[in-house]
Amino acid sequence: MRIDLHAHTCMSDGTDTPSELVRAAVAAGLDVVAITDHDTSVGWDEAAAAARAAGIGLLRGMEISTRFRGRGVHLLGYLPDPTHPGLLAELRSVLDGRDARVPAMVARLRDLGLDVTVEGVRRLAGPTAAVGRPHVADALVAKGYVASRGEAFDRYLSPGRVAYASRAAGDLETMLAALRAAGGVGVVAHPWGRHDPGVLDHDGLAHLADLGLVGIEVDHQDHDAASRAELREIARSLGLVVTGSSDYHGHGKVDHDLGCNLTAPDELERLLDAAAAAARAAGRDVPAMIWPHPPV
Ligand SMILES: [Zn+2]
Ligand SMILES: [Zn+2]
Repeated sequence: MRIDLHAHTCMSDGTDTPSELVRAAVAAGLDVVAITDHDTSVGWDEAAAAARAAGIGLLRGMEISTRFRGRGVHLLGYLPDPTHPGLLAELRSVLDGRDARVPAMVARLRDLGLDVTVEGVRRLAGPTAAVGRPHVADALVAKGYVASRGEAFDRYLSPGRVAYASRAAGDLETMLAALRAAGGVGVVAHPWGRHDPGVLDHDGLAHLADLGLVGIEVDHQDHDAASRAELREIARSLGLVVTGSSDYHGHGKVDHDLGCNLTAPDELERLLDAAAAAARAAGRDVPAMIWPHPPV
């Protein structure tokens, strides 16, 4: 079984529609793919229909922007009830904050004499529920100010650069509780990506495990071999699930091809067991993963 548990579509900052993601996952030889757009479940229904038609397994999730002890942390939430009022309220406040961030960044770019507008950014963002930095980057590319999203981040949009505006995020501990109340489970995404372990060292992860975190995304392109080995050992010592995934964004991010990192089948099984327990505790039906099956 080839299992990839982290992928984006145009419902956040990827470039594929949910149906195109599913087709790309089939083409990449995956048996199971997760759809994990930022702070939203809006792509789930389309992806589910496409997965059922194609016969591929689908795990419905989202990647939630949170803060923990002063640092931004991405939390992968799998199989929550997307209509749960508490979770919806938390996600809404993240999305509202993200929307407010775009005008702040655009204003700074305009101060530099660059001709970008909020309307232009929103137009480029298309149907996404989460207009954010990548779309501001796209506007800079479209105007020819930079050659790529990467250059836009390096020159203008990364923390410490001139047009950076701090991100909207929910409190990680609050978000974990909301996720569990909605019958979902949380896995911390790329915890050591582009950072030192910082607040997500062994003690920080142990604290989050006590609060119900069920897994660590160990195999991710932002982690080198030494980080992966160390994180694997931390996960083992804390009894956490180990996941691996591509963080695919379509054409939106290079070196993140579907299947470039994989999750072991027994780790997926542990994740689903935890999700079933969370759903029972929340008084919901056991959440439905769509399993691979012969194409209908
Ligand atoms: Zn992330
Ligand atoms: Zn991601």
